Amino acid sequence: MHTERLTELLQQLQKASESFLGYPVSKDFNYAELYDFLQYPINNLGDPFESSTYKVQTHDIEKEVVNFFAKLFRANPNDYWGYVTNGGSESNLYGLYIAREMYPKAMVYYSESTHYSVKKNIHLLNIPSIVIRSQENGEIDYTDLEETLKFNRHKPAIILTTYGTTMTEAKDDVSKVKKILKKLAIQDHYIHCDGALAGSFGAFVNPKIPFDFMDGADSISISGHKFIGSPIPAGVVITKRSLRDRVSKGISYIGSLDTTITGSRNGHSPLFLWYAIQKIGIQGLQERYEKSVAIAKYCKQELLKIGIKAWSNPGAITVVFPKMPDEIKNKWQLATEEDITHIICMPNVTKEQIDAFIADVTRIDHSRYLEEDIIYN
Ligand SMILES: *Cc1c(COP(=O)(O)O)cnc(C)c1O
Repeated sequence: MHTERLTELLQQLQKASESFLGYPVSKDFNYAELYDFLQYPINNLGDPFESSTYKVQTHDIEKEVVNFFAKLFRANPNDYWGYVTNGGSESNLYGLYIAREMYPKAMVYYSESTHYSVKKNIHLLNIPSIVIRSQENGEIDYTDLEETLKFNRHKPAIILTTYGTTMTEAKDDVSKVKKILKKLAIQDHYIHCDGALAGSFGAFVNPKIPFDFMDGADSISISGHKFIGSPIPAGVVITKRSLRDRVSKGISYIGSLDTTITGSRNGHSPLFLWYAIQKIGIQGLQERYEKSVAIAKYCKQELLKIGIKAWSNPGAITVVFPKMPDEIKNKWQLATEEDITHIICMPNVTKEQIDAFIADVTRIDHSRYLEEDIIYN
């Protein structure tokens, strides 16, 4: 019976959601008020800023979402553009696409801590690229970047910076990158900032780590289902209108401009993001971030108390520590890479959950995690 299957599936999802500390997705949302919108075949095809023949769409709502993030990222009010994507990966693809259209002969530089979607995107776009070393905390190695750029200074440079790497939430400093480009006199350059998780709270990180348009980024991407939270994966990409104009082509079938990666586009996810923004607001977003930072601090302190070498990058909501035995890893769904793992203190993560996690870890023999290791603050 299909109803039994559904009940079973629902229970399975509920259970999996309870002990979920290792991935950056917020779960504290309630979109029940939007239920009636599931009755319509909403499709945002075409450019959200252009009118189109297809009217069952949420373009106006989508534009407000774009406006919100453009402002948060300090874009030039007279020169920004963007759209709601299917996620951070598509947003990164868009940033790189625009960059390549602008500089077809460019080289892309990205650090070894960059998200895997970027490598695939670079492959899809067929752009030559060079991997830059990362520092131990996951941040790009500026010296290696400078040395590498120096050898290729005759070529336009596309730099992909990450604001909050996937494993350690390290944040590349866009102003330092900009300074290197200036020093080497590489005028033809483009900076795309991947802020999948941390871009949404970057404005509140104190002290601020440069990443936005005023700091020198040409486009910024975020994932909507990460810090904001959404039942459907979503993302936002913000760039400059003047750059978008280079890739726009008019399509008479839809009566709009084909400026986006996919044709048919999800019209429900802009609605979710818009609704969340209305409910949370700038102030609420800041409070969510501060709450997450406080929980991260608590988590780190509790891990250190039981002798586990936990650390986190400045302003991060991610706590990094040596990888855990499978029992813990599977129960708490801890993403693990090489010999490290992490807890991401999303706004829904509570002290009680951290305590339950610590109790689990204490129960197992963790003597092998006690060796000396570097601790960052
Ligand atoms: C999650 C993540 C992405 C990909 O975003 P999706 O929304 O999953 O497509 C890209 N970059 C970083 C740094 C991420 O953490």
